[in-house]
Amino acid sequence: MSPETKPDFLINPEGLRLDGRRPDEIRPTELEVGILKKADGSAMIKQGNTHILAAVYGPRELHPRHLTLNDRAYLRCEYRMATFSVPDRKRPAPSRREREISMVISNALEPALFLEEFPKAVVDVYIQVIQADGGTRCASINAASLALADAGIPMRSLVPAVAVGKADDKLLVDLGDMEDKYGGGDIPMAIIPRTEEITLLQQDGSFKKEELIEAIRMGINSCKYLHELQKEALKRAYAKRAPAEDDEEDEYEDDLETDLGESDLPEEED
Ligand code: UDP
Repeated sequence: MSPETKPDFLINPEGLRLDGRRPDEIRPTELEVGILKKADGSAMIKQGNTHILAAVYGPRELHPRHLTLNDRAYLRCEYRMATFSVPDRKRPAPSRREREISMVISNALEPALFLEEFPKAVVDVYIQVIQADGGTRCASINAASLALADAGIPMRSLVPAVAVGKADDKLLVDLGDMEDKYGGGDIPMAIIPRTEEITLLQQDGSFKKEELIEAIRMGINSCKYLHELQKEALKRAYAKRAPAEDDEEDEYEDDLETDLGESDLPEEED
């Protein structure tokens, strides 16, 4: 494979990006819920060429015991990149970056969960990056949040996430790998859509105050769009599992509307 070269420009004279997207356009995104039979919950995301699987087990007994939290469940996230997920073989041992991203993901998801309902237990979230093309921490949050819903973990909301960045002094949402590498900065963020509470906000590179405010506004818009895709993916999974009987199916559809109306799941807090 030829070594990657820096592109001449990240935004062309027509204002479009390397893959033809507008600055405020996210990558083509596919979400699928419940794809792993053995996990309590699972989801897959393809966000452009970033492909990720998330599996949830629990709530279950926590080992090692010294990690036990008496007032809530421990949300243990493990983000890993497959050795073949990037052209330069990723070493299989967990890197510092992977450990840091695991913690960031856990912190982004935790405010949306009612972990206090399961004191002393653990909810394990395993995230495997199959193919990395930028934005893996945000795509991981998108998939992990769906996998947690699929596992029936009580939650206030799904958590959508996206990175907003900058190239040629223009703000761009959902950076691809080249934009991440050769652009002028990167702001990954995650939100609880109904309240617009921000549960993750990091920044790489420098942004003027006005740019930061605009980047957050663009990020919230993209997150709200991703949230719609997340809800649709959950609905598709529920519909597939609905009972075959017509009457029961109607009842099931009604329940689903209630569940996915104002909030994402039945356990919504008000
Ligand atoms: N990357 C890589 N090898 C690694 C780690 C990362 O090639 O060991 C690439 C990968 O495509 C990733 C990108 O660098 O998506 C940016 O990584 P960053 O740490 O900014 O996280 P991300 O943007 O994926 O959340």
